[in-house]
Amino acid sequence: MTFEELGLAAPLLRAVAEKGYSQPSPIQVEAIPAVLTGRDVMAAAQTGTGKTAGFVLPILQRLEAAGTVHPHRIRALIITPTRELAAQVGESVDTYGRHLPLRSAVVFGGVKINPQIATLRKGVDILIATPGRLLDLYQQGEINFDGIEVLVLDEADRMLDMGFIHDIRRILKLLPPQRQNLLFSATFAPEIRELARGIMQQPVEVEVSPPNATADRVEQWVYPVDKKQKPALLRELINDRDWQQVLVFSRTKHGANKLAQYLEKAGIDAAAIHGNKSQGARTRALAGFKAGRIRVLVATDIAARGLDIAQLPQVVNVDLPNVPEDYVHRIGRTGRAGAAGLAYSLVSADEIKQLNAIEQLIQRHLTREYVSGFEPDHELPPSAPLRKPRQERGSGPSSRPAGGGKHTARGRGSEGHARPGRRRRRPGNRDRQAQGAGNAG
Ligand code: AMP
Repeated sequence: MTFEELGLAAPLLRAVAEKGYSQPSPIQVEAIPAVLTGRDVMAAAQTGTGKTAGFVLPILQRLEAAGTVHPHRIRALIITPTRELAAQVGESVDTYGRHLPLRSAVVFGGVKINPQIATLRKGVDILIATPGRLLDLYQQGEINFDGIEVLVLDEADRMLDMGFIHDIRRILKLLPPQRQNLLFSATFAPEIRELARGIMQQPVEVEVSPPNATADRVEQWVYPVDKKQKPALLRELINDRDWQQVLVFSRTKHGANKLAQYLEKAGIDAAAIHGNKSQGARTRALAGFKAGRIRVLVATDIAARGLDIAQLPQVVNVDLPNVPEDYVHRIGRTGRAGAAGLAYSLVSADEIKQLNAIEQLIQRHLTREYVSGFEPDHELPPSAPLRKPRQERGSGPSSRPAGGGKHTARGRGSEGHARPGRRRRRPGNRDRQAQGAGNAG
């Protein structure tokens, strides 16, 4: 399948070619023709699948074909849960729309509102916004929704998780009823279907890469370790395996900060990225990470959503998320575009419940491996049996036993990490500080 065959117009084909895409991704193959028909579309696709182009390209085409109906009125509204995602969608609109005369703007909170007002007053065809700032601007009389032809709710599942449902419902009431609705979400969970029912009319449903398929592409290990030893184990892994670009997940903002500080003190360039950081700090951290100046980016689940970092060799979970689906989102940040990714979870005994929930969700037992010098005093209990058989995906046995035969066979078994004389059972102060408990990301 080619982009030409999807029915895209010449200016868009040019932009796509300049971006270097040779062929559309599966979600693009499904979503682009569906959106071009003008129907409502509900798509299940995660970050990393190319979903953004899946809605941006056909929206640009439809707006261009319809011509400017209302000068100085917003014609397409794209709502995202996070500032990072808004910024990235805005970049995609600029990139794919570079040969079209459409104007776009991105608005989100945490930065000054006046420059955003100035941009809106000049006239914008496509607005990308986070819900809170959008409502602020509306209340200040700076936004007119009357010209909206297309609404996109991007990462709708995350919007619900983040408690934006009331804002979304308020925004929906302000929009003209005649419009095209597009809803993108990692999953079609019942809450998402419920939300969609109130918005969409007989939507076309498009689904690619369900979470299990993502999990299948990533090699995953559990490293049992005592909680207090996690920062030291992470440092050991980074140094020992010479990881140059590693995304680390922390459940809490406080934990992310402490861990980044710990790594910095250990001589490893690191930065934390989470909701309490200013937009400038987040943008700088992400840019530094992409450019290779920052070796370790420690992110909370929410801050990591929508981060456009392609092809990370590995991700590390310094703790397990409370919501098992977040685990799948986390490991989805590695192993993109056909490359095998590696995901390591540092798991302490108190996290067995989360581990069981994850293993149940992905329908497989994760391989456990012990790193010499970091064997836990508090043993991680055995995993619970899987409750339902794995769905047929033509990929072998229903589960792999715990205990890392595979890893050892690759010469990276626990022996490979033996560090005589470096066993640290009593953590220093920094270790203690580095374990975080605090506000959820
Ligand atoms: P997304 O899932 O929209 O966040 O996109 C993930 C990454 O895939 C981004 O870096 C895009 O630039 C890239 N991408 C999107 N579509 C394609 C494509 N057809 N071929 C190659 N890369 C793509």
